[in-house]
Amino acid sequence: PETKLPRVGTTIFTVMSQLAAAHDAVNLGQGFPDFPVPGRLLEALERAMRAGHNQYAPMTGIAPLRHAIAGKLARVYGVEADADAEITVTSGATEAIFDAVHAVVRAGEEVIVLDPAYDCYEPAIELAGARAVHVPLHPRTFAPDWDRVAAAITPATRMVMINSPHNPSGAMLSAADLETLAGLLRDTGIWLLSDEVYEHIVFDGARHESVLRHPELRERAFVVSSFGKTYHCTGWKLGYCVAPPALSEEFRKIHQYNVFCSFAPAQHAFATMLEAEPEHDERLGAFYQAKRDRFREQLLGTRLVPLPVPGGYFQLVDYSAVSELDDAAFCRWLTIEKGVAAIPLSPFYASPPSGQRLARLCFAKNQDTLDAAIERLQGL
Ligand code: PMP
Ligand code: GLN
Repeated sequence: PETKLPRVGTTIFTVMSQLAAAHDAVNLGQGFPDFPVPGRLLEALERAMRAGHNQYAPMTGIAPLRHAIAGKLARVYGVEADADAEITVTSGATEAIFDAVHAVVRAGEEVIVLDPAYDCYEPAIELAGARAVHVPLHPRTFAPDWDRVAAAITPATRMVMINSPHNPSGAMLSAADLETLAGLLRDTGIWLLSDEVYEHIVFDGARHESVLRHPELRERAFVVSSFGKTYHCTGWKLGYCVAPPALSEEFRKIHQYNVFCSFAPAQHAFATMLEAEPEHDERLGAFYQAKRDRFREQLLGTRLVPLPVPGGYFQLVDYSAVSELDDAAFCRWLTIEKGVAAIPLSPFYASPPSGQRLARLCFAKNQDTLDAAIERLQGL
């Protein structure tokens, strides 16, 4: 058939994980933890399945989970969300992003995406018949240039997408960023998609500035998160979307004919977990900060230069002291010849900055895994 997505191949995460497996490399490429899911969560999942929660869940998500999410939003962000009208449980953040785009973006319209951007954004936009308008973040700090965003807005702009903490850089938006963005969107018909899947993985005492905290932005926003990131279970594919009632209503029209509902047993398990151990998410920053700090210290013994990591579980490294290769070639070489898989940054860009020599390493790993990788990286 004539392809609908001519610029899309197999995702870089799949490509690099397959290459890592084929060459027995330590896989710091695709972002996923290699340590176990909390025991209480596993027990709750098994209990849910044994109790017979194996049939379709309600389309919007089971009520106890939607209420537990509302409780979390009140506890963490001090905001009220209506569990019935504003929260929808989805099959991961990926599904939520797809649904949000398809709920409001029409053929011929434009969506502003800040590059480097997570790879599922643009295909969702293109499948809606719309066009992604790429605005680059700063090549080193990954801060947005709001003047450039303002200049990219046209009468066809229907949505802006933001992601904080940011994949791949870990950069975080400030309250001032949100304020500036609110000014740009005021009196427009532009919706906002805020990808906050790393909301709990923030470091050095910083506060995650959720769009939910900004009343004006919240009125026009789909805020997306993922239990996979918070509970070390990326393979369960469960997440949620918080949006005002009218937006949620449109969002649910897509969700109900995309998947209808999401994995029921895990919904029960997360409802139990959120009630029983609300402090889990509050401990996540310290848990990952210890990993980040140790890994960065270890990287000092290599010729890779680590960039700052304010949040998330990825470490960007500048490899220009090691190699002249472009990032895709470097990551292949590193995987095949040196036995450590990494992710190049260029697939996150419509047009990568020329001469950028950055690779992404995931530190959501046991210390043994990171030690094994460092031992190999010391030989560069
Ligand atoms: N957005 C970002 C920024 C991500 O890093 C990821 C996961 N890699 C997702 C969305 C997708 O999350 P999920 O696995 O819950 O679909
Ligand atoms: N979000 C993960 C990452 O950035 C990958 C998820 C996937 O493989 N689709 O590495």
